[in-house]
Amino acid sequence: VIFKNVVKAFGDTQVVKSINFQVDSGKLVTLLGPSGCGKTTTLRMIAGLELPTSGEIYISGKDVSKVSASGRNVGMVFQSYALFPHMTVLQNVCYGLSNHKSKKLEMLEKAEKALATVGLSHLKERFPSELSGGQQQRVAIARSIVIQPDVLLFDEPLSNLDAKLRRQVRQDIRDLQQEIGVTAIYVTHDQEEALAISDDIIVMNDGNISQIGSPENLYKRPTNAFVAQFIGDAN
Ligand code: ATP
Repeated sequence: VIFKNVVKAFGDTQVVKSINFQVDSGKLVTLLGPSGCGKTTTLRMIAGLELPTSGEIYISGKDVSKVSASGRNVGMVFQSYALFPHMTVLQNVCYGLSNHKSKKLEMLEKAEKALATVGLSHLKERFPSELSGGQQQRVAIARSIVIQPDVLLFDEPLSNLDAKLRRQVRQDIRDLQQEIGVTAIYVTHDQEEALAISDDIIVMNDGNISQIGSPENLYKRPTNAFVAQFIGDAN
């Protein structure tokens, strides 16, 4: 994923102000910053849920700046999970394929494989209300990886989980991402979470990128006061 001079304005207000970054294949990169800094808007532009006002976005080498969500092969995991309550686990995962012209049997095979990847095969006939929060999150992840996305997006995926589960689920996400080797972009406002799971962190502040670096780099060598203070708050 490459962002080249990407701007997003709503009316007269630029919420993303000409940002540039590159996420290499197979990496997990976090967009970290305070509320309102433009993280979610940036993620939504990768998904195609928002189109940039100007600039270019490349996914797998292709310029997708003007391509809507349905034309991109991107998976997204939301904080609310967004599972359908009236569908079983298996049906929810199959739904991820509904835009892909797969045959029924092929769809089922892919969905079963995705469920096996997240370790939930045994719960496939249950409804979301019959699962724990962590299990629901895994179903949401299975649904987003079933399309074998070019990039997998996470928007504050732990915010509905209690503190104890958060560490476990974040490690599960990291392990799974490395196991399937998918490129992932992860949004959080939590410094500790970002430091724990990322290959690289993109620190955002007020629509700009303050610094990009590995967790160690940002922690030991912040290049500006904002990063020093924001990352330092993790302690
Ligand atoms: P949070 O962690 O609170 O979700 P964020 O860093 O993800 O914050 P964004 O959701 O990207 O921030 O929002 C950045 C700014 O853009 C905010 O000031 C928000 O009010 C504004 N914004 C987002 N979407 C729209 C929209 N559709 N129309 C107008 N303004 C918007």
